[in-house]
Amino acid sequence: MAGNWKMYKTPAETHSFFEAFKPLVAAAVNCDIVLCPPFPNLHAAVKETEGSNIGIGAQNLYWGKEGAVTGEVSGHMLQAIGCQYVIIAHSERRQYFGENEPDVVRKVEAALQYGLTPIVCVGERLEERESGQTEAVLGAMFDGGLAPLTPEQFAKTVIAYEPVWAIGTGKTATPQIAADAHRFLRGKVAEKFGAEAAAAARILYGGSVKPDNVAHLMAQEDIDGALVGGASLDPKVFAAVVNY
Ligand code: PEP
Repeated sequence: MAGNWKMYKTPAETHSFFEAFKPLVAAAVNCDIVLCPPFPNLHAAVKETEGSNIGIGAQNLYWGKEGAVTGEVSGHMLQAIGCQYVIIAHSERRQYFGENEPDVVRKVEAALQYGLTPIVCVGERLEERESGQTEAVLGAMFDGGLAPLTPEQFAKTVIAYEPVWAIGTGKTATPQIAADAHRFLRGKVAEKFGAEAAAAARILYGGSVKPDNVAHLMAQEDIDGALVGGASLDPKVFAAVVNY
């Protein structure tokens, strides 16, 4: 169960969040819990969660180790401050910063090189769904961004299915819509990496997940977890999602 804070919270607000959140999820043993704050809060978040059952992730990384790349942050740096995860190719990064499938491959490889678990986002836009292109879009994202990985690299990678029309809109995919997309993606994994890899793959659903819809989504066979934006900003609300 992963939370994406996007561009919200200061270090002081990060401290207050974890003070409230940690005890609320201390007994959660059936899932991995991850929070992905903005870069300036990562150090504070790692310190706040030391010795707890919560892992910290970044929302992006650059594929080089270091160099003249103004404004970017490397996997090497994220590893050095204690991050364990990184979100890659969130739809907002695809939309506003032009991230594409070759970037996904480079970023996943960089994340794994520095011991970070990549959470790779895929998902169709509304017009793509309405014109019947959902599977073509998901298939192309899989083929371009995930299929080029080695089986060893893929085994350490988490997929997040996030229909763009459901992100931050309050419109959650119905459990059936989400289940169909997850089944399609798991089928792509099976085709490329085999049945065992497909059974072991972790595919999260993201898009307006809230305490009152998480149980129905998680009841779908192919949904293994959630990537949560807005509902991860409030410690009580995100704890209710984690503890559903
Ligand atoms: C997200 O940012 O990945 C997300 C799914 O946002 P929200 O839960 O707010 O729709």
